[in-house]
Amino acid sequence: MNAAGYVGRFAPSPTGRLHMGSLLAALASWCDARHVGGVWRVRMEDLDPPREVPGAASDILRTLEGFGLHWDGPVVYQSQRHASYADALNFLKQNNRAYGCACTRKTLQGHAVYPGHCRKGLESEQSVRSHRFDWGQQKGDWTDAVQGECTWDSTEIGDFVIKRADGLWAYQLAVVVDDLEQGVNVVVRGSDLLDSTPKQLALRAALDPLAGSIRWAHLPLLVNAEGQKLSKQTLASAVEVAKAPGLLLAALKMLGQISPGKSEPQALADAGDVEGLLHWASQNWHLSQVPSAPLQWQG
Ligand SMILES: [Zn+2]
Repeated sequence: MNAAGYVGRFAPSPTGRLHMGSLLAALASWCDARHVGGVWRVRMEDLDPPREVPGAASDILRTLEGFGLHWDGPVVYQSQRHASYADALNFLKQNNRAYGCACTRKTLQGHAVYPGHCRKGLESEQSVRSHRFDWGQQKGDWTDAVQGECTWDSTEIGDFVIKRADGLWAYQLAVVVDDLEQGVNVVVRGSDLLDSTPKQLALRAALDPLAGSIRWAHLPLLVNAEGQKLSKQTLASAVEVAKAPGLLLAALKMLGQISPGKSEPQALADAGDVEGLLHWASQNWHLSQVPSAPLQWQG
């Protein structure tokens, strides 16, 4: 892909401070963009106020800057984009790709996949609680730059919620609307989002059939000594800006970017030269060297 055409992004949720797993995703997507002189955007996915931590958004941005991961253009905040999500929902409804759903957790009990109760419309006494994407029967695939060939079947996933019963926009809809509007065409992110990719591909095609293709790279998950994904729930510790050179070096090693005998990145980290280390990383970046299996991180 030519340099001018590349638009990547990092899209954290302000539910806590950046930990090593989120730093790995930010670093990999930054390197992949900068390697070809592409654009790298930051989007704050702040659509779920009950889960958010006050001050986390600005803390994340300060941390990215402290790690030398500077972004292009203004930071987009999803909390300011409700009108765009409402437009998208209306568009899908007008095109018979979205419908109101009256189901409750109780009526869906025992169904691993949404059974399509409301797809044909609601009875007069029922009222809309959430909205779902009408997926129909589709199969598809994509070639993931890290995980390889991936396939999906909509009947195994079911019509999914795009506007929640609590009135909040679902993650899937917001991400696709924003990626389309920001012109994002390469997504490098954690494998915990692998299950979202088919939904996002289907929504993207429904919202803009003429949209260009998007490339995906799902990074290995970082797990703790117990094999649990690093997250706020598993008490992953926040990355400290003061330790940026060493943590960036460790992240690059985990990403398979530093082959044995390469002394330059170690020397740059020892000298505390964050900008130099990042420059080296972007110049020598090889997405094909990123491992696919989970990696352990004690931190
Ligand atoms: Zn329903």
